[in-house]
Amino acid sequence: MIIIVKNGTPVDEVTRISKELRDAWGVTVEKSVGKHKVILGLVGDTATIDPLQVQNSSPWIEQVLRVERPFKRASREFRHGEASEVVVPTPNGSVYIGEQHPVVLVAGPCSVENEAMIVETAKRVKAAGAKFLRGGAYKPRTSPYAFQGYGESALDLLAAAREATGLGIITELMDAADLPALSRVADVIQVGARNMQNFSLLKKVGAQDKPVLIKRGMSATIDEWLMAAEYILAAGNPNVILCERGIRTFDAKYVRNTLDLSVIPVLRKLTHLPIMIDPSHGTGNSEYVAPMAMASLAAGADSLMIEVHPNPTKALSDGPQSLTPEKFDRLVQEMSVLGKVIGRWSEPEKQRALVASV
Ligand code: PEP
Ligand code: MN
Repeated sequence: MIIIVKNGTPVDEVTRISKELRDAWGVTVEKSVGKHKVILGLVGDTATIDPLQVQNSSPWIEQVLRVERPFKRASREFRHGEASEVVVPTPNGSVYIGEQHPVVLVAGPCSVENEAMIVETAKRVKAAGAKFLRGGAYKPRTSPYAFQGYGESALDLLAAAREATGLGIITELMDAADLPALSRVADVIQVGARNMQNFSLLKKVGAQDKPVLIKRGMSATIDEWLMAAEYILAAGNPNVILCERGIRTFDAKYVRNTLDLSVIPVLRKLTHLPIMIDPSHGTGNSEYVAPMAMASLAAGADSLMIEVHPNPTKALSDGPQSLTPEKFDRLVQEMSVLGKVIGRWSEPEKQRALVASV
């Protein structure tokens, strides 16, 4: 259930309404202050609450509405239709991710391999226009014999790349025990597709302050994905980004996964959370990354995650789907044409000038 409070309602009255609801019904009341409205979201057993009784409890209440969906905090209704934004402080300044902002580019290798390659990649993707460097220290590999990532030492290398470029860092957490070390370098914590329903991990990342990027499980429905996001929100962390990275379908002969771009309009309707698309894992083939990145942009993605490696043929993981820095740069230039037409592009000239001054 949500309560829309009239513009100009005194803060004391909002506090009084919230307390009354908590005391009377035992529900949790979450206040969200949007651009135009203050909304009180009620979570808990709201089935027996009479909306009319709530409506009549204060002249400042504009409307009382039920949220019918199983995911409450993640639902678009919970914010009365307003999109949320995730604001990430990075050394280069705050990065805003969300529907009302320019598209945010995240780029970097699948795995962090050594200092030279990660720093070089960071510089190149920054010069092309990326705001975040991605790179795995802990890798979820299908085979126990495949490269598992360099772990904590790779986190130090990400820290060096952050220091050298000022880019925000996005890296995957697989084990809650690594959270303290990972939080020291990550600006956004990634929960990978394979851990989308690792509920104890979701509760842990929900109980800390760093924004969380949650990838869609490879066989997860949209509702399951949003319920996973709900775990993080319910644990107290409002900064969640959803990332589509392709799902399993009957046909994996030519692509690694089926990149489900229909999630963009569907999620837009269902949730207020920002939407990121990963065409690299979505296709598994560097040749298909650019067209799917363009399609993601056209369909309204808020952010793109793209794997970039200085020498893809030598990559320790996911080389076949990684772009070279040159190809990434070309793709960003192509995207900028479309991005400007749809009004979702920040001026690359300015970005390049900033890079030049570093
Ligand atoms: C990754 O981003 O490198 C990764 C392993 O992604 P996913 O969880 O989508 O497979
Ligand atoms: Mn990868």
